[in-house]
Amino acid sequence: MAAAARTLRIGLIPGDGIGREVIPAGRRILESLPSSLNLNFSFVDLEAGYDTFKATGTALPDKTVDILKKECDGALFGAVSSPSTKVAGYSSPIVALRKKLDLYANVRPVKTTAGSSNGNPIDLVIVRENTEDLYVKEEQTKETPEGKVAEAIKRISERASSRISTIAGEIALRRQNIRTAAPGTSNRTSPMVTITHKSNVLSQTDGLFRETARKALAAQKFSSVHVEEQIVDSMVYKLFRQPEYYDVIVAPNLYGDILSDGAAALVGSLGLVPSANVGDGFAIGEPCHGSAPDIEGKGIANPIATLRSVALMLEFLGEENAAAKIYAAVDGNLDDAKFLSPDMGGEATTEEVLNDVLKRL
Ligand code: ATP
Ligand code: MG
Repeated sequence: MAAAARTLRIGLIPGDGIGREVIPAGRRILESLPSSLNLNFSFVDLEAGYDTFKATGTALPDKTVDILKKECDGALFGAVSSPSTKVAGYSSPIVALRKKLDLYANVRPVKTTAGSSNGNPIDLVIVRENTEDLYVKEEQTKETPEGKVAEAIKRISERASSRISTIAGEIALRRQNIRTAAPGTSNRTSPMVTITHKSNVLSQTDGLFRETARKALAAQKFSSVHVEEQIVDSMVYKLFRQPEYYDVIVAPNLYGDILSDGAAALVGSLGLVPSANVGDGFAIGEPCHGSAPDIEGKGIANPIATLRSVALMLEFLGEENAAAKIYAAVDGNLDDAKFLSPDMGGEATTEEVLNDVLKRL
């Protein structure tokens, strides 16, 4: 008997700038997945962003949050413009969404394709804890006889360290399945997680992160995952010298933030790098780039970061076969290099890149 088809409801939040050009591409690839996957999608258009703020006085309307919570299985978020000077009342809607939906993990894969890279292809993912560490923003400034002194709290909890490490282990296992489902997209043969910390200096905070991560990854279900650890400064060195070494990197918030942007610089264009904001049972796919005002409205934004974000969202919704198909189609487009957008040195429009990827599905 054929398995019943599954229908996933996806919230679409284009946001600002090229978000409005790439999110429709994300919708199209979901609609174009082969019917053999037995997957259907329904969509709901949702508002958020700086333009929404200018029009309504809030960057993240309650309605958007309500619908995501009540109706949706996952979502795609385009981009928000950040005003260059502080605007009273405005704060980032994606930061607020992470809080309201408890999306505690930020996941950023960085990949070069086998065909297009000179050396070994890079295929790693950074899993960043997204709720604590120095970013709890508990800072204070004191006046002392020697002048001002500012301090900040670095908070690391067992609970947050454990759940982020568990997600990292699950991602490592799933990546292995995707490599099997889409052969040729990677050279790696077995899963690995690298725990990142600075516990040689911060023995209590980073010490707790390290110890908790070790414990979480020692679970029976991760027995096939090779677990190692690395001090964050030496990791930066190795990440730039030998990026192909890494598979899954798990890190507390601050190191994860810095490593994520650094690693994104290892690939040709921001237009290639996806991300996902993940909580228990919910994921928002989000291209790493911003609203790119310099190319807005020209129809040349690279949709690949969004297409990969769609695949990443699907992974977290338990649809790794569908994700593997998208990854393979995107890699095929990049390897073939006939339809590349201008940021990649080509001349193809958003639509032409998308159509080439869809043809490969
Ligand atoms: P924001 O304030 O929204 O972050 P920004 O000016 O920082 O806007 P980014 O979106 O961060 O712009 O992009 C930085 C550069 O990378 C820009 O030159 C932009 O055109 C380019 N870029 C970003 N995303 C893409 C994409 N998807 N396709 C092509 N070029 C892109
Ligand atoms: Mg930017």
